Amino acid sequence: MKNLKISNTLTRAKELFKPINSKNVTMYACGPTVYDDPHVGNARSLVVFDLLFRVLKKIYGENNVTYARNITDVDDKIIDIAKEKNLPIENITKEVTKQFHSACKNLNCLNPTVEPKATEHIDGMIKMIDSLIKKGFAYVNKGHVYFAISSFKNYGKLSNKNLDELKAGSRVEVSSFKKNPLDFVLWKPSEEKDPGWDSPWGRGRPGWHLECSVMSEKYLGKKFDIHGGGLDLVFPHHENEIAQSCSNNSIERMANYWVHNGFLTMDKEKMSKSLGNIVSISSAVEKYNGQIIRLALLSSHYKQPLDWNEKLLEQQRSTLDKWYSLYEEKFNTKETPQCFECLLDDLNTPEYISKLHELYNEALKGDNKKKESFNSACRLIGIFSENKENWEKYKKKSVKVSEKFIVKKINERLQARKNGDFKLADKIRDELLNEGVLIEDKKDKTEWKYK
Ligand SMILES: [Zn+2]
Repeated sequence: MKNLKISNTLTRAKELFKPINSKNVTMYACGPTVYDDPHVGNARSLVVFDLLFRVLKKIYGENNVTYARNITDVDDKIIDIAKEKNLPIENITKEVTKQFHSACKNLNCLNPTVEPKATEHIDGMIKMIDSLIKKGFAYVNKGHVYFAISSFKNYGKLSNKNLDELKAGSRVEVSSFKKNPLDFVLWKPSEEKDPGWDSPWGRGRPGWHLECSVMSEKYLGKKFDIHGGGLDLVFPHHENEIAQSCSNNSIERMANYWVHNGFLTMDKEKMSKSLGNIVSISSAVEKYNGQIIRLALLSSHYKQPLDWNEKLLEQQRSTLDKWYSLYEEKFNTKETPQCFECLLDDLNTPEYISKLHELYNEALKGDNKKKESFNSACRLIGIFSENKENWEKYKKKSVKVSEKFIVKKINERLQARKNGDFKLADKIRDELLNEGVLIEDKKDKTEWKYK
């Protein structure tokens, strides 16, 4: 049996992974809130946990891993968008779920074993709230139910912060219904026109954190192996999941390993709506190709921040283009390459990819056996999901004129302008535009970029 080492946010250490039951390894990852087209930041989490799923299957057996990833289809953000667009909530959630699934397919992510929806588990959530109230961990105030964080001694353990730090470092929802500002909502009343379910506390809807506690327990058990998500979920989301599940089930840990992937920045800036620099997975796939995006997302270690920029994507494009010269449909074996060891060391994908480059170079000179190894090593991380024909088709679509050609044309245009031949200068500008190149005259130079 291969030994996997994984970084555990809970212990802040890289640990040897020991499953509760090696015949059924269990992993839960927080899925999307389906209110808007998923973006490349979401894609990182998807691809990282897809890779972990693949690695676990490789170690413990194809059918011995249960991976649950939820869909949050009731949330204030969804309600707000539905109001803004004047559409029924279901139209939004159905459409965005469809977009999400198509993004998963484009990124070559395997289907999780189960994909539960929040709205299909409201009964379970009501039961859990009821139990938390009875056990003294939650309180009711005018149709609202809150979890009292003072009742849970380990609150803050995952994020490694004391209560004052948590209060200071986060935006805590202020409400007169709460006893403590850090108490979080389990149930809240719904207005007539908003989605709501009948409950002992009146018509309302659940707080976001609750669904993951309920659904992970239903599909993976009270205690399971891995709980994953993006770094931004550590607090409050995961901290609150732990508080709910551990209190209700009188256990020390709900998941033994908490795994979090780092942030994704966009040209060194935080990705955010207000900066207008959010790139959706669908537009990235349209501009590049799902495999290029997948390889780009795996190019940094999952715990490190990753900067999303043109250069990164162009690099992956040329790498894949090179690698595709050795693609063979028939070499779709399940062989475990030696470089799998890199993935066992806390999913060290940069190291794995550099080994792929070495394997490529060897295979280029070597026999079929080497080519076969190279092909299976690519497939192991979800690369080579398209056949060569499709890759060629994509390449044709995206082929661009060379930099040399562009620079030559820009110089010709500058000369024309110097000569006062503005007609010719404009003609050259249009010619470049036709080739998909935009030029812009700055004070003392001309800059260009691909459209
Ligand atoms: Zn969650």
